[in-house]
Formats: sequence, structure tokens, C-alpha cells
Amino acid sequence: MTKSFFTFFTALLSIGLFAQGNTNYWQQHVDYTMAVDMDVDNFQYTGKQTLVYTNNSPDELKRVYFHLFFNAFQPGSEMDIRLQNIADPDGRMTTADKKSRIATLTESEMGYLHATSLTQDGNQVSFSEEGTVLVVDLAKPIPAGAKSTFNMEFKGQVPLQIRRSGRNSEEGVALSMSQWYPKLAEYDFEGWHADPYIAREFQGVWGDFDVKLTIDKDYTVGGTGYLQNADEIGHGYETPGTKIKKQKGKTLTWHFKAPMVHDFMWAADPDYIHDIQQVPNGPILHFLYKDDPKILENWKKLQPKTIEAMEFFSKNIGKYPYDQYSVIQGGDGGMEYAMSTLITGNRKFGSLVGVMAHELAHSWFQHILATNESKHEWMDEGFTSFISKLCMTEIMDSDKENPFEGTYKGYRNLALSGKEQPQTTHADRYALNFAYGISAYSKGSIFLSQLGYIIGQDKLMETIRTYYDEFKFKHPVPNDVKRVAEKISGIELDWYLTDWTQTTNTIDYGIKEVSAVETNTKVTLERIGLMPMPLDILVVYNDGSRETFYAPLQMMRGEKENPYEGVERTVIKDWPWAYPTYDFEISKPMTSIQAIVIDPSQLMADVNLENNVWQAE
Ligand SMILES: [Zn+2]
Repeated sequence: MTKSFFTFFTALLSIGLFAQGNTNYWQQHVDYTMAVDMDVDNFQYTGKQTLVYTNNSPDELKRVYFHLFFNAFQPGSEMDIRLQNIADPDGRMTTADKKSRIATLTESEMGYLHATSLTQDGNQVSFSEEGTVLVVDLAKPIPAGAKSTFNMEFKGQVPLQIRRSGRNSEEGVALSMSQWYPKLAEYDFEGWHADPYIAREFQGVWGDFDVKLTIDKDYTVGGTGYLQNADEIGHGYETPGTKIKKQKGKTLTWHFKAPMVHDFMWAADPDYIHDIQQVPNGPILHFLYKDDPKILENWKKLQPKTIEAMEFFSKNIGKYPYDQYSVIQGGDGGMEYAMSTLITGNRKFGSLVGVMAHELAHSWFQHILATNESKHEWMDEGFTSFISKLCMTEIMDSDKENPFEGTYKGYRNLALSGKEQPQTTHADRYALNFAYGISAYSKGSIFLSQLGYIIGQDKLMETIRTYYDEFKFKHPVPNDVKRVAEKISGIELDWYLTDWTQTTNTIDYGIKEVSAVETNTKVTLERIGLMPMPLDILVVYNDGSRETFYAPLQMMRGEKENPYEGVERTVIKDWPWAYPTYDFEISKPMTSIQAIVIDPSQLMADVNLENNVWQAE
């Protein structure tokens, strides 16, 4: 009964609303030109970086910061120490007996990234390393609106694969090069974000990248950016039919350009297979994966699914703004990067499609909207999880009526565990990885699916498209998505944003009592949890007929449309939150009622479902 009522996201029509607003937003801008030499024998590299920095902030800057992520992979780093002290360490980063893998890295296995010289507009500047952050005191301050050019030389060593990036992954990928170059920290309207690399998540400055990579000529390279010298390089990038001239020497220099990205990843391996697909009216897709008989069939079948996923997200979120996307075997699970992803490849087909869909969806939330993931991780991981679940339901022909069932279950587990921390917690500051994971992914995903319950599914999808359109390339914050939803729905949602994301208040409504009042039936509902919610109440009669009642929350100052097409709905009086109980009458005798159910869609994250149902004896 409950499930047959689950009407799911019917209206996916695209409507463009809202002109650009938010003139108070500004973003810094970076243009990187880098030349890097990679030694594939000792995994060391040197690089030169010219960085033209545009200070779009209203402030004069006396300091800047660069991330030196590879320094995290050294014994005694903050990442290592945190790993040794957290109660539930990430299994990828620990040995079978739960010891830190970083702690045992030798000199030649650890990672490092050091600036060896640095000038600002031709003048030497003083710089010092604080773990994974380079602190730079400027030779002269950068005034608001001005540009300044940094020239840096750097050297690095690629660590053994511990987390995300590294050499010689478990599946045998030689180089997974993410978080590998000195990367300017973002300064935005919330201030500096020079977060040390402890566990997770990133925030970057958009700009244009021009990267020349010199590497052993047997290696095939993929990643962020368009290859500029494809016909010289070959490796499957050449124009079909082009004969590649044999290069003298042991190396090739690959030249990539990437416009308006806030990160640059590359991966390289001598045994990559390289396939190319064209999304109709969309980008070109590159697939790079090991020539390993165990995985070949799945990686071929993955390719049309990636086309479908790209089309799904472009339709439901907004147009993908680049001409290329690459799915590359590498890393240690799945991680999103600009115009690309690194995923592990030895998976069952469903899992392979699932990880591709999730990482591809990040292109919209992590790279183009680019919420600060350290501070608002739920807006990135959660929204990505939400939309990729919908995508999977469509492209894998899932017959699950509620694709979010497991998501809600996970959230209830956390909410009832006593280990929950509010979603405002910095991604590194959760006491447990378990609490971070559920809070960011599951509770973040429910923020949207439950928003659909509150404002209606078509309004939710319109909210997502409008949010993307209005805030792409702006680093939006939680209030932004709330305001878009308010404007689209006409429903006030401050209570939703504050309770759901800034507290650990839970939702628990129940049917307290059902009684006969002459020829009518009186229903008494109760609010047990602190978090407010509007209620959909379904009544099922003995003859099989059904009707619904809708009790809006008074502080919403608005109502959603009837979500159950073809079922009569009565809007009953508002429920002012502070009242613990609420009565309404059904104008039918109690003896005619078979059951009463609060929220048959189960999109409201009520932590106790048992008291949501009343059944006639
Ligand atoms: Zn993710």
C-alpha cells in the first residue's frame, strides 16, 4: 500500500528562471602555466610554475598560501597522526592490524612537494612550509583589483598510493597524479581557506591552466585539459588516420590546456587502453584503463552508460560546460577532478557504473558550483549522491520504488547512534569517519529528497536547475540553495536549513489516538522530535478508496501542491510547531477506516516509523 503511493519525480521539465543576481559575490582568479618533468624510475619530478593571480576581492592582500598536498604522505604528518588517533580509520590507509600506512613509508616511498624558489613580480619573497601549507609573505601587497605574477620552481616525489593520489596503485596504475602541484589556496568572501591536508575535501580557485608534461614516451596520459599536440603525441589522441612521427629520445612532452577549472589532475600508465566516445551534442569522452582481461568487458559496457549519465545530468542539472570528460582507472576508489575522474576498475558492472555516475555528477557540484567542501561537505557529497542515485535508477532500469531507502536507513542509524554531529562541522573535525560519511553523503542527499517532500518534486527539480544556473562558478553556500528553493516554491524554509543542517534535532511525528466522534473520526497527531515538518496523512478505507490530508507547518507560510495525483487531498489547518499535539476530523465513521499513515512516501526522515501508522483492529 505504502509503496504504490510512491510517485516519483514526474516533472523534469526545464525552465530557466531568475536572472543573475548576487552582485556581492566575487571570486579570485588564477592562470597557471606549468612545465613538469616526471622521472618514472624514481617517481620524482621537478616543475616550473608561472601563476598570474588576480585579486578580485575588495581587500589588499599581504600574504598568500599554497597547498603542498604531497607533504601529507610522510611519517608524522597531520594526516598520519590523525589516522593513528581516529577510532575508525579509513581501511585504505591502514594495514590489516589497523596501523597507519603513512607511518611506515621510507624516504624513497613517501611523498613531498617543496618550493625551491619563488618570486613575486620579479622580487624574491619569503616563504615557509607549515606541513601541507606554504605560507608566503608578499614582497609587495596586492591591492584590490590588481594582478600579480608568481614564478615558482618546485620539486616533488610521488608517494606510494595511500589515499587518492600516488604511485603503483593496488590495481597496478603507475601514476595517479591528483593534488600534485603547488596550488594557491582560495580566498573568498568567507576569507582564506588554507586548510591543511588532513583527511578530505578541497576548495580551489578557478582559472586557466596550461600544462606541459614531459614523461617517458611509453606512458599514456589522461586527465584534466585538452591535449594541444595530439597529432604529435598519438596514444589514441591523434586525428583518426594521422601517422605519428617517431620521436627521438626517451620522452614526450604532452601539452594540455584547461579553461576555468580549479584543479588539474593527470594519470599515466604504460599499459592503458584508450577509447573515445562522442556524446551526441555533448562532450567527447575518454576512457583509460588497464589492459587486464578481468576488466575489459565491463569497461567497454561502461562507455554507453557514461554517455547516458552525461545526458541525464545535463538535462536535470544544466549543461556540462566543457568539451571533454575522462574516466580513468586509478586512485583508490572514486574521486572527482576537473573534467575527469579516477576510479578503481576491478568492480562488478553495477558498481563500476555507480562510481562513474557519482564522480561524473561531482562535475556539477564540486567543479562548477564548487561549494567549499571542507565547510559544506553535504552540499557536494550529498547533492552528488542524490542526483547520481536518480541517474542510476534511470540508466540501469532499476525497479526500486524508492531509490533512497538505504540512504534514509543509514541516516536513521546515525541519528539514533548518539554519534551525530551537525552538518556545519568541518569535514576534518568529525569524531568518526562513520559520522562524517553518513552526514555528508546520506543526510546531505536527504536534504534534497526531503526538500522534495516539503515543496513538491517538480519544484525540487526546478530548484536544482535554477541553483546551478544562478550559482555556477561562484562557490555557493547553504543559504543560496535555500533561497532558490524559497523563491521557486513560495514556501519559507529557514527552519528547514537551520534544523536539518545546523543541529542534530530529529523528526519524529506519530499518530497518538484515533477515536469516533459521533459519525466522524477524530485523529490526534503528536510531535515527539524537535524538528518541525509539514505532514501528509493518508487515509485508506475498507472499500479500498483513499484520501489524503495535508497539515502545513505554520512557519512555512505556504503550501505545496497535491503530490498524489488522482487522490483527493484536503488541506487542514496549519500546525504551529510549539504545540506538541494536533487534532483533525475525518467526516467518515471510524468503522469505515482501515488505516491511517503519516507520509506514505517515506521521504520525510522520521526516525521512528512505527508510530506513523494506525491500523484498525
Ligand atoms: Zn563523492
